[in-house]
Amino acid sequence: MLNIVLFGPPGAGKGTQSELIIKKYDLVHFSTGDILRAEIKAQSALGLKAKQFMDKGELVTDEIVIGMIENKIEQNKNAKGFIFDGFPRTSAHAVALDKILINRNIPISGMIALEVPKDELISRLLLRGKDSGRADDQDQTIIENRIKVYNNETAPVIDYYAKQNKYISILGVGSIEEIFSKIASAIDAK
Ligand code: AMP
Repeated sequence: MLNIVLFGPPGAGKGTQSELIIKKYDLVHFSTGDILRAEIKAQSALGLKAKQFMDKGELVTDEIVIGMIENKIEQNKNAKGFIFDGFPRTSAHAVALDKILINRNIPISGMIALEVPKDELISRLLLRGKDSGRADDQDQTIIENRIKVYNNETAPVIDYYAKQNKYISILGVGSIEEIFSKIASAIDAK
């Protein structure tokens, strides 16, 4: 089974690259951000709770996202593998994910981290905000907070996977195809 964590700050291109990876490797894609936005759209209790954090660019509580991921894994028992996009976002998430996967004997194969300079992230997110209408992509203060949260709470997750020899860093600048080809080479080497 191929289980990939696709990692990186907001605007690094995780969603775009996930689409290409799932097509080539026939994996199931879990984006916690997409799942949460669907919950908000459906006006579920979980969505309403999550929205309070998402509107400020803060992380939604561990309890919400870990439970969500566990349910999705349970619902996809016959998958060839998973791609985790936007999760884990804290070291506690990474520990919880390992527990869930090791219990099922399907460990993480590798963590691919997309590296993109901050200025480029901000301009990509503002552009995406214009196109998609996503509120948290339209306000520079919220964007800056999301990048700050990434640096403080999410970046340490790199150490967690580096210690397991699973961390692969890829420069996420250039054409979508160029970046994908680097990702595919890293996956094929697994
Ligand atoms: P994203 O679509 O990954 O950029 O996520 C958008 C927002 O959803 C984030 O700013 C967080 O508020 C929330 N979110 C998404 N994934 C997670 C996660 N794994 N843990 C906590 N909050 C999350």
